[in-house]
Amino acid sequence: MSSVMEYQHFINGQWTPGESGETMDVINPATQEVVAQVPKGTVNDVNKAVANAREAFESGVWANKSMEERAEILLKFSTNVLKNKNRLAYLESLTSGSTIRRTMGIDVTAVSDALKNAVQRSQEIPLLEHAMCLPWHIPQHSYIVREPLGVCAGIVPWNFPMILAAWKFAPALMMGNSIVMKPASITPITLLELANLAHESGIPAGVFNVVTGSGSVVGNALASHPEIDKVAFTGSTEVGRQVAHMAADGIKRVTLELGGKSPTIVLDDADLDMATSLCIHAFLYHTGQVCESGTRMLVPRKMQDQIVEMMIEKIKKLPIGNQLNPATSIGPIASAEQLETVMKYVDIGKKEGAQIAYGGNRMTDGAYGQGFFFEPTVFVGCNNQMTHVREEIFGPVQCVLPYDDVEEAIAIANDSPYGLGASIASMNATRAQWVAKKIRSGTVWINTHHMLRADAPFGGYKQSGYGRENGAHVLMEYSQVKHVCHNLVPDASKYRYFKVLGLN
Ligand code: NAP
Ligand code: MG
Repeated sequence: MSSVMEYQHFINGQWTPGESGETMDVINPATQEVVAQVPKGTVNDVNKAVANAREAFESGVWANKSMEERAEILLKFSTNVLKNKNRLAYLESLTSGSTIRRTMGIDVTAVSDALKNAVQRSQEIPLLEHAMCLPWHIPQHSYIVREPLGVCAGIVPWNFPMILAAWKFAPALMMGNSIVMKPASITPITLLELANLAHESGIPAGVFNVVTGSGSVVGNALASHPEIDKVAFTGSTEVGRQVAHMAADGIKRVTLELGGKSPTIVLDDADLDMATSLCIHAFLYHTGQVCESGTRMLVPRKMQDQIVEMMIEKIKKLPIGNQLNPATSIGPIASAEQLETVMKYVDIGKKEGAQIAYGGNRMTDGAYGQGFFFEPTVFVGCNNQMTHVREEIFGPVQCVLPYDDVEEAIAIANDSPYGLGASIASMNATRAQWVAKKIRSGTVWINTHHMLRADAPFGGYKQSGYGRENGAHVLMEYSQVKHVCHNLVPDASKYRYFKVLGLN
């Protein structure tokens, strides 16, 4: 890639230059080459996008379309996403460090699935309900109708830029809202591409807008904007808390999908080939930069050495390299900042007395030195109170924690401020189900990890956030209900409710 791609905001159905003319560089994390530039958005850019989104909403150009009409356009958008698979996958990999194998195999399809899911689930939820009038003994008709919220804001991170955005814009659009989105500063271009594709697919101007820029300016302006009705945020718990505070002043609805420190519990009846592959997949998928990564691995004490040895043998065979090479299993870390965070936590782990069984270093040989590569790292000798075991690292670091009985494993698994995901490796279905019941997290997997589905809800317990994405549940997060009560007694003198005030 030699020429630098130049992007603008996507506002009111058009590419729109930023007010300040300042730009931000987007780099390839495998080479540190600048591959694109986007506007460094200002508060006025946000105001413009929100004003257009509000106008589009109030005009009814989208909100007043029937569910069928909106569904038809979203399905066309979904088809257009698939038609642009190669381009979207390439741009996503280039800028986020995601392997091309994954973006081609999963990510683009997942965006299209999010749109299809919103359409399909909208046919299952009650859009109109009738309430009984019995308690009043007077003729009246009450019904409950589900309506859009208005203008939504979506603030998304850099780890799965397209998927995490689609989990917000798909339900928001299906339910008739307008939306203004802010991508992460380091991965902005695929969301801009998707907004343009949405417009080309028939989403009216102003309904789907994207403003690029920093979290402290653009993110902040969205979370506190008086014309925004709902803020959907995915990212760190720290920023999520700030977003919730900002949104609270305007009593905005908020959904938060935050960090995690998910446990993987290997039971002593597990198939060890399955269990070791699961534990590797849990912490190395997207080089560990997944909110529900399995990074606390609980193993029966007597089996620890055998399991760790098997895992390391498998890890050694995984090709690490440039994410655009289809042979690569593990790509670079997404940014210099994130690489520094990973290195900081590895140091803390060593200082607090854990031992490195594998990895632990930045990779600097040959082409690796041009990018943000870090060895898959396995810590042993850990306990659940250590800093690197408790806090989210967001990198390719696994912590092995031995346990003596299953009750202890469950207690350690639940001893975390987070509750996003958890997995269990076991060949005994009833035992696994019993453990699943005891785990305090929004998702529990048995003999798998990271298996998120468009048709099943995803979200956190505890400080991993609130609200749910996906499933039918997400459509509730982007709509509200109105009760309409119609008194059918024509004569005021006979209407018993007025009697309370002595009116008749
Ligand atoms: P982050 O700071 O929480 O960023 C997430 C999004 O929020 C980005 O679009 C960011 O914009 C924006 N943002 C930042 N500050 C903001 C503010 N004051 N008001 C409104 N929006 C704001 O996450 P990060 O710095 O990229 O990563 C830090 C840590 O977050 C990671 O190490 C990881 O632990 C966690 N994380 C979790 C997830 C997840 O899926 N749950 C995803 C990514 C990161 P900018 O990009 O412009 O800063
Ligand atoms: Mg940040």
